Amino acid sequence: MKCEYCDLLDKNEDIIHADDDIVIAVKDKVTTSGQITVYPRKHYPIMEMVPEDILNKCVSAAKNVSIAVFESLGAQGTNILVRNGLSAGQSVPHFGIEVIPRREEDKLNLEWQGKQIMEDEMEMTFQALEEDLKKPSIAESKEEIVVDEGETEATLEKEGDNYLLKSLKRIP
Ligand SMILES: [Zn+2]
Repeated sequence: MKCEYCDLLDKNEDIIHADDDIVIAVKDKVTTSGQITVYPRKHYPIMEMVPEDILNKCVSAAKNVSIAVFESLGAQGTNILVRNGLSAGQSVPHFGIEVIPRREEDKLNLEWQGKQIMEDEMEMTFQALEEDLKKPSIAESKEEIVVDEGETEATLEKEGDNYLLKSLKRIP
């Protein structure tokens, strides 16, 4: 499977920083100039698969990048964006945090209209999440699910019932 983020690392292009765990890169196809992506060095398709310590490093690096963008690029704000899953607009099958510098009048439209939901929908969502979040398997799971580049299809066959892997089937 072709992965833009893994390829970037191989080519060693546009990389601002790379260590054993994380990579900070400038991409050429961006929403706005100065956009920077922070991602785990290892290929994890979605956030739920990234081990806690690596995810923490990514978040911490995104914070530092955001500070740098304010200071060096004169941004007046930043959007910190994760496209997690195909339905969320994810186009690269590798988890990443995008730091998007914002300026007043930049005409970038990342806003959407809120809509009022019915009370029973609200109640249903609340109950479903409340129950799920109490399960130790979700809240405290340290189990690492590794899907190496190129092995996704085989792994999906094997682990057909895993909800995380199911969601991957939808990522290109
Ligand atoms: Zn990758």
